[in-house]
Amino acid sequence: MTKWKLNIDGDRFEQTHWHILQHNFPNYEVFWSEFIVPMTCRNELPKDHALYIHPKKNVDADLQNISMAHYTIFRCFIVAHELILLKQDASNEAIYADRLDLIYSNFGTIIDMVSNIFFFLAKLQFRFGLRKTFIDKKSYAELEGLLKNFFDSDYDSRIQDFERTKRPVYIDIYKMADFIFDVLGITPETESFNIFSQRIRSIRNAAIHNPVIGSVNEKFIPKLDKLKKYYLWGELFYNLDLNDFVDKEQMFVDDFKELSLLVNRLWDKLIPKYREISENGSFTKLLGTVYISKPCPECKGDMQYLEMTKNYFPNSYDKNKKEFVLSSSSRNLFKTAYWNCPNCKHKEIINVKETKVSE
Ligand SMILES: [Zn+2]
Repeated sequence: MTKWKLNIDGDRFEQTHWHILQHNFPNYEVFWSEFIVPMTCRNELPKDHALYIHPKKNVDADLQNISMAHYTIFRCFIVAHELILLKQDASNEAIYADRLDLIYSNFGTIIDMVSNIFFFLAKLQFRFGLRKTFIDKKSYAELEGLLKNFFDSDYDSRIQDFERTKRPVYIDIYKMADFIFDVLGITPETESFNIFSQRIRSIRNAAIHNPVIGSVNEKFIPKLDKLKKYYLWGELFYNLDLNDFVDKEQMFVDDFKELSLLVNRLWDKLIPKYREISENGSFTKLLGTVYISKPCPECKGDMQYLEMTKNYFPNSYDKNKKEFVLSSSSRNLFKTAYWNCPNCKHKEIINVKETKVSE
């Protein structure tokens, strides 16, 4: 059970669309509730406050990057979902025909954002002394090793790719995706995510960097390992083997499901790693502060938003002594927020919430 619920406490988009993702990717809500909500004003402001769901002031940049990537993952899943469900009619023919590119662009962004989160997590681990370096500078010998490896295994096929599709030939020295392994090591979760993300990237790159992928009646497209064979549309007419093709609609549905389940499994490992950092004493400093201002109705000066938590112990009546006594078994926290004008001392009080705390 998460403390916060996306269908109640999320932004409007999350509230209306969470049901689409919640069965395959429940960990989105777990991560959001525990780590994203504290960067927003939800804990401090009343729900009807305009800034309730907004980020606090001065949230650390690495945390903002993580929160932005996390939300983008959600958005891309929902956009992909709507594209998959899209029904063809006269008003959307072009978008309908282009869905492969659009859906796999969104899947590709999801994969990139996952790497993004691990990249910034590694940076935070370094900042909190949980790892020695953030990015290791490679030695000349290590670079030479990469070059040799590339020469032995990839060079020939990459030249062919360049010749055929003009795809640039380069050697990856650092890439964001490495940080998933860097942070979690080689595990069944990281391995299966990595293999699947290569599939998504290959389809995305084929779709967005090349002419439209040829299909049979707009319904069947070449399997990933047959894309090269059917690169030229002419092959579809004169060298067609239907065993080389998959049903496009089914592929969309299957890949959506697989990707959401794999990201969810990866989050099982991500959450404890992130928690390790968030439990560090100085972590709360990164979460920013609630700071809002509005014009004072009295003097038009700048009013500031402040808050105060009062502790009080409820009284109970002792019939024998005929007096009120303090109950020590529980106390109440009474949170008051108020607008204060430092100029004319005008004050507007908002009672935020009252909670019972059992000792
Ligand atoms: Zn004033």
